[in-house]
Amino acid sequence: MSALDPAVELARGLWVTLKSMFEKPVTYQYPEEKREVRKRFRGRHELHRYENGLEKCIGCSLCAAACPSDAIFVEAAENTDEKRFSPGERYASTYEINMLRCIYCGYCEDACPTEAITLGDNYELSFYDRASAIYTKDMLLDPVPASAMLTPQKTETGVFTRSVPEMENPKD
Ligand code: SF4
Ligand code: SF4
Repeated sequence: MSALDPAVELARGLWVTLKSMFEKPVTYQYPEEKREVRKRFRGRHELHRYENGLEKCIGCSLCAAACPSDAIFVEAAENTDEKRFSPGERYASTYEINMLRCIYCGYCEDACPTEAITLGDNYELSFYDRASAIYTKDMLLDPVPASAMLTPQKTETGVFTRSVPEMENPKD
């Protein structure tokens, strides 16, 4: 080891510090500044509605069956034209996801025949107790569009007979 080595190492260290002073910061001032997520990001679940305000979820429980961590609980009830929540025969009277169990795999999204449930880009999922980790239907359901009515709705007889909407390309 030469006598100059400590000075060289010191200069190298200072150079790294100096160089990083001119680099763009990679930190985000969260929560004021929120980081944009990638398109494939899977965050908090959302239950969607059609434009007329009816709920897309038909209470079929396929998402619960597909869930590998048994995080979803669905209970279905019958629709009537007097009191309709979703197209078709049934709707989810109870829909809950236990966020402590969820592993954000997206299988529920893939299994859903009406595209009712998707994993959105919200990653703010903190809670203080176990009970708050159960996300209920009210928490997950999209707000009603401005031009639509809340569910349940009174609908015309014989209009909303199909639970699964006709899709242009069902293979999509
Ligand atoms: S993302 Fe996966 S683990 Fe979470 S609720 Fe859906 S199927 Fe279950
Ligand atoms: S979210 Fe989809 S798969 Fe799950 S119960 Fe509702 S309609 Fe069925």
